[in-house]
Amino acid sequence: MPEVVIVGGGIGGLATAVAFLRQGLRVEVLERSAEITEVGAGLSLWPNALRALDVLGLGDAVRARAVEEGAAGIRDRTGRWLTRIDAEKLRAAYGSPIMLHRADLVDILRSAIPAEALRTGVTVAEARVDGTVVHSAGTSSGDFVVGADGIRSVVRRAVCGEIRPRYGGYTAWRLVVTPHQPVTDMGESWGRGERFGYAPLADGRVYCFATANMPAGTASGGLAELRARFGGWHEPIPALLAAAGNAEVLRHDLYDLPALKTFVAGRIALVGDAAHAMMPNLGQGACQALEDAVVLARVVTRDGDLTAYDRERGPRTRMIAARSRRIGAVAQLSFPPGVALRDALLRAIPGSVQLRSFAPVLDWRC
Ligand SMILES: Cc1cc2nc3c(=O)[nH]c(=O)nc-3n(C[C@H](O)[C@H](O)[C@H](O)COP(=O)(O)OP(=O)(O)OC[C@H]3O[C@@H](n4cnc5c(N)ncnc54)[C@H](O)[C@@H]3O)c2cc1C
Repeated sequence: MPEVVIVGGGIGGLATAVAFLRQGLRVEVLERSAEITEVGAGLSLWPNALRALDVLGLGDAVRARAVEEGAAGIRDRTGRWLTRIDAEKLRAAYGSPIMLHRADLVDILRSAIPAEALRTGVTVAEARVDGTVVHSAGTSSGDFVVGADGIRSVVRRAVCGEIRPRYGGYTAWRLVVTPHQPVTDMGESWGRGERFGYAPLADGRVYCFATANMPAGTASGGLAELRARFGGWHEPIPALLAAAGNAEVLRHDLYDLPALKTFVAGRIALVGDAAHAMMPNLGQGACQALEDAVVLARVVTRDGDLTAYDRERGPRTRMIAARSRRIGAVAQLSFPPGVALRDALLRAIPGSVQLRSFAPVLDWRC
């Protein structure tokens, strides 16, 4: 019998499984998909997440498949810098962020878990505070149950009832492009109610993402819409969109969760998006799931007091989710005088102030 039943085999569930295995506990991961994979897109991992991966013994394997992020910043649609981050100073203060393909991170996490601990094609219907999990293949039970089943978690119902995700007011596209000319820099450009970002991956391909304000559920024209919206922005954005050929374009309306009062009930703990799905503006959703994993395994093996996990993770993830939402509100401004004021203010912020503002998020130690 497993000691820990983990519902969900995404980044949060897999990382939690690795964290418990390293503490010598038996785990079972229940994943509804037939295969454990990730969507075809990039992922930025900040130094706080890399410290969590180091605790899991996987930091170097992840770094080996990633690109260290260099100079970055925010531009306007013409390419004029609004803010710039000095990569050397960032590295000296906190360590370097990296960019990698999501599938690589999932592959590394999955490879650290014995195959018999991973049960795919199993959909969980209910989790109970006594440690029972009801699913499509019967039931499982453990000393602890981890809800790592994402923003629409069913496990969460046993912790805090029905909590509805909130639409953030904008949608996101993601794609991976093989450029005609190498792209070595990275960054994000802000317009009026729209943004476009790009970052090179280790194999020379480039991860691109874009956002635009629109009602939830609006139909999208895929690549044609991206070209219409962003084809007139600064280079290399038009070149990347021209090189995209028939690249698969992922499109998701962006939701987050209102702050939960608690992540734990009885034998159940929530991790990752099930606990604190956040807008992606800080690139911290998966990073926080990795932190959750190491803290939860530490707390459980220390004395099993899940409320200690709640006390440690609740305030931090709430702070980061709130920040991420606020940044999105500024980044997605569309009223022209508001955009002009935003851009002027951003240009006026000294680099040193910017750098210090990262501290509460990036200074995390396990
Ligand atoms: C556009 C965008 C860009 C982002 N960029 C970044 C970034 O650069 N850096 C970063 O750190 N974060 C980023 N994030 C956030 C990050 O993707 C998420 O926070 C992270 O993937 C959450 O992982 P998770 O394992 O908690 O949840 P999920 O990835 O949602 O995994 C949940 C798993 O549970 C399974 N599941 C669900 N229900 C059941 C059930 N009933 N029974 C069994 N299995 C079930 C699902 O199939 C899935 O495999 C981004 C998010 C978006 C939308």
